[in-house]
Amino acid sequence: MHSETTAKRLELTGIPIAPGCALGKAHLLRQISLEALEVNLFPVQDVAAEIARLERAVQQTRTQLEELRAQVHADDSRDLVGILGAQLTLLEDAELLDKIRDTIRDRAVNTEYLIAHEIRQIEAVFRNLKDEVMRSRFLDVQDVHHRLLRNLLEIEHVRTNPFRRLTAPVVLVADRMLPSDIALLELDKILGIIIEEGSTVSHVAIIAKSLGIPAMTEVPHATTRLRSGDDLLLNADTGQAIVHPDENDLAWYGKTHHHHLARRPAGRNGRKAAEAHPPCQTTDGVRITLDANIGSLREVDEALHAGADGIGLLRSEFFYLSRQEMPTLEAETDFYRDVLRSMHKRQVTIRLLDIGADKPLPYLQLPQEENPQLGMRGIRLLLRTPDLLKRHLRSILHASEHGTVRLLLPFITTLHDLDRMLAVIHDLCREDQIPRERFHVGIMVEIPVVALDTDPFMRRVDFVSIGTNDLIQYLFAACREASHLQEYRLTHHPAILRLLHAVANAGKAHGKSVSVCGEMASDPTMALLLIGLGIRNLSLQANALPQVRTSIQKHSLAALDKLAREAMEMDRAEEVLALLKQLQPG
Ligand code: PEP
Ligand code: MG
Repeated sequence: MHSETTAKRLELTGIPIAPGCALGKAHLLRQISLEALEVNLFPVQDVAAEIARLERAVQQTRTQLEELRAQVHADDSRDLVGILGAQLTLLEDAELLDKIRDTIRDRAVNTEYLIAHEIRQIEAVFRNLKDEVMRSRFLDVQDVHHRLLRNLLEIEHVRTNPFRRLTAPVVLVADRMLPSDIALLELDKILGIIIEEGSTVSHVAIIAKSLGIPAMTEVPHATTRLRSGDDLLLNADTGQAIVHPDENDLAWYGKTHHHHLARRPAGRNGRKAAEAHPPCQTTDGVRITLDANIGSLREVDEALHAGADGIGLLRSEFFYLSRQEMPTLEAETDFYRDVLRSMHKRQVTIRLLDIGADKPLPYLQLPQEENPQLGMRGIRLLLRTPDLLKRHLRSILHASEHGTVRLLLPFITTLHDLDRMLAVIHDLCREDQIPRERFHVGIMVEIPVVALDTDPFMRRVDFVSIGTNDLIQYLFAACREASHLQEYRLTHHPAILRLLHAVANAGKAHGKSVSVCGEMASDPTMALLLIGLGIRNLSLQANALPQVRTSIQKHSLAALDKLAREAMEMDRAEEVLALLKQLQPG
């Protein structure tokens, strides 16, 4: 795909999700929309050319699959070799291809429309199969046909591994992205990310922020307004992107880029860097624990540099999402062991897999759900996949001998689920002779019913961590991925503050630690409010840590307590925002 646009300077605007600037060639990724293709029927003038287009796409798909198979052969991944072999066989399905060729000849219509219809029919056949294993094969069938469609339409998607073929890093421009998409990207080839649609608390935003990749969202029609190969300057500090930047833009970038480089930490010795930060406390001497949220080993170093007291949230699903196949017990245990060792005995909160909803695993067949945000996520899913749950838990419990582990259970809704999980943990400890007192167990408070009635949960666990990202989406019934619902996710709403205050109080009454690990804690003024509400432990993005620490160290607990009381008396989020504006964050 080469640019045919004239080199006219074009400005695009959006909402910044991760700070920084990037300059490079654009690289487009688009998801296939079967729904759109199914209704996009149009006549073709040149039937022979249309059939030739189909043949080219089939040939291209065959070459890609063969290349991929050779690649994974080299990596010695037998399952994947088998899947790719089966996909090649599917591609050679003469009956299907003949049927499409005949229809193009008879009806003179576009090929993608016909393929989209074929996929739908095959989908219906698979959905009715009794055998679950056979039913799960549909994903492989779908995958090969989607690949064929992408080649036909000349669009790329992460699953095709387009980054292997890139020789220089690019600025990624995508219509939408799932966490599993971003986790599969070759990060050293990505300078920046522009997404047409996605909210600032989406998991993609969280990953981009934590990896320090400049990113911007809400850029309508980005994938149609520019082409792969266009020069692109992204300023994710201001939410601006310039296609075909001129000399002035480039001169500006030259200066800014140096400024950004200068801000990077110089050394890489985590232990020394952490020692350089005195413990965080308010001016009247109240200690506030500042932990980091991480998803990978490379972020441990950054957390230590930023002076994190520990890891308040290790999203274990990011380890799974960064792989092409299910990790072995050994590989996963090694991962946690490495994190624990790097943290030098500091506390590490490992959250059990929170997959489902917007975080599907490419290699795990999940039930199709109408509304996955209200469906099989986190613990609900793990309890239904006992083999996965046991292997996953085992890897954490085995690694726990290398450091201080807190086990965090995501998406807890009922005492029944919690009790079942505690029983599984108890049984595994007994089976593998792991002392139960070697680690603490806690839950995410992220579903309204748990926040509204925490006492019974507090009695059963050692700590709780409030997941404000989900709690807010469920309290306001406004999906966190949807940017157009931003006005309903009222983080500053007094009702939220009163609820958080109640959870903090319950923690105090039960002598249990309460932390906040949602994005709210990364905001320097919201962090002040949280402390006023009674929270003493925050877990946040490592790059937000210095600013949050400075902000806290400027205020007394007495003043923050007063601030929170005032905010809780208010009626509206806007009033709380106005109150916070009077503060000096740092
Ligand atoms: C949350 O819901 O606030 C949270 C920290 O978890 P996640 O963002 O991974 O859902
Ligand atoms: Mg959550």
